[in-house]
Amino acid sequence: MLLLPDYRVRQRDLLLEIIRAMTAQLDLGEVLKLVLKASVAMLAGHGVGFIALRNPATDDYAIRAILNIDTDKLPELESQLAELVAGVSEGQKFDDLEDNLQQMAELIDPELRQLFPMPLVMAGEPVGLLLVFRDYVGVTTPNDLQMLKSFADQAAIAVHNAQLYERVNRERQRLDAFVRHSADGVMILDTQRKIVMFNPALERMTAWNSADALGCHEEEVIVWGVVEPGNLQDAMLAGWPKKPSQDDTPETRHVEGDIVRLDGLTLGVAITYVPLYSSDGKLVNVIANVRDITSFRRAQEMQNVFISGISHELKTPVALIKGYAGTLRREDASWDVQVIRDGLLVIEDEADRLTDLIENLLAASKLQAERMRLTLTDVRLDELAARAVERFQVQSSKHRFQLTFPAHLPVIQGDAAGLRRVFDNLLSNAVKYSPEGGVIEVGGSASEKTVSVYVRDQGVGISPDEQDHIFDRFYRVDGALSRKTQGTGLGLYLTKAIIEAHNGKIHVESKPGEGSTFIIILPLS
Ligand code: ADP
Repeated sequence: MLLLPDYRVRQRDLLLEIIRAMTAQLDLGEVLKLVLKASVAMLAGHGVGFIALRNPATDDYAIRAILNIDTDKLPELESQLAELVAGVSEGQKFDDLEDNLQQMAELIDPELRQLFPMPLVMAGEPVGLLLVFRDYVGVTTPNDLQMLKSFADQAAIAVHNAQLYERVNRERQRLDAFVRHSADGVMILDTQRKIVMFNPALERMTAWNSADALGCHEEEVIVWGVVEPGNLQDAMLAGWPKKPSQDDTPETRHVEGDIVRLDGLTLGVAITYVPLYSSDGKLVNVIANVRDITSFRRAQEMQNVFISGISHELKTPVALIKGYAGTLRREDASWDVQVIRDGLLVIEDEADRLTDLIENLLAASKLQAERMRLTLTDVRLDELAARAVERFQVQSSKHRFQLTFPAHLPVIQGDAAGLRRVFDNLLSNAVKYSPEGGVIEVGGSASEKTVSVYVRDQGVGISPDEQDHIFDRFYRVDGALSRKTQGTGLGLYLTKAIIEAHNGKIHVESKPGEGSTFIIILPLS
């Protein structure tokens, strides 16, 4: 029987130990350190070396681990390495590149005498390059070289695994960040519908904190107040999700309703459940994407209110016009001139109201499609205000109108028709929302760069909550008075759009019960 010499046995044991340590380690930096240390120890006892890894996307090599090399020398070493690698890819062998290798050794330390290039190759693909230098010329037997080769093969596997692990980790971090910062609520359920992941957006939506929610059954956290057409429980009882066939996209489940939050408030949400299968087709997780649908519902509600409001708005003048026209046309009656004139006046006024309404609607729908276009001319805001007040004065006997402008308000560049509509909308609101009457004051002032104008009434006022919404499209405050008064919720939306197209600003100051002041600030130039 052939006995291995003692040092061979020791070397083999050491090698096995190193390989075990290498393959158990998944941190790429640590694996590289181990490989480098072990190879230097095997070849040189003490010595110098580095490992460069290949970037498969660019085919470039970057030095990732060094042993006993001055870091100052790294940039030059990398450029020499690039030349070396270019030589290899042109079909030369490492041994043919003796000159390049020698140059590298010189750069690191002129005392270095012998070097060993070891390509790290995994399944035919280069993974990197390991270079070890020693400061003496020693004898290397074919056995030594064979052992080095198998060591390099093992090292390539360890490096490759650590690289894969690093990549998976990076992907996971990216996914974590994505879920963490998603504006939608996201949770992951296991097959028992226990929560295994719960993101911050969902914490905000449900008032649960993630630490408490983890491990809970989904039903403890997502408590449905109203739900249609059926929750996940019903869906699962009915056999959801169907086992997917090969190229099926997974069957998602959409549930919409109101959930009761931990603090007792309710929130309208839409949840989409997506099943996640293992490679052998078993359900492993369900991912739930939870969306707050409050604003969607509000938009829908506003649209509904708008449609019923607009039909009412259209019907009233049409009914009046038809009524008066019918009455005046009656053949069995003869009207005196004054009655005919009054009747025609109503018809004319109502026709004007219809035109106004249709113009507002057209302007709003046009504004949705494109930016407002202005025709700029010199505009005197005090004159526009005075004319608007004249128009309203004849319509209302309950209100007293008051104009408070300084003697020489500067002329601005503006769109006269647009600004006229602004005054009409604000004054019509001031009249509508002060049903008891009172003073309606229109005034203004100028500063160095701006002109400001206000319209003040002593009406019902607007609560702070509502003040945030009254400039929204179709928005009407839901109150007894708005239900009684005609309106479409477009007036302030258009007013704001016109002012903003002039680079101006509009805001409201108001207290419920004490009246409102709408303030507009327009730039002078
Ligand atoms: P509307 O056609 O309903 O009048 P607007 O866009 O002009 O639409 O106004 C939106 C809402 O703002 C109104 O429904 C009303 O509730 C409130 N609002 C507007 N102006 C006033 C005001 N001067 N005083 C009190 N509430 C007002």
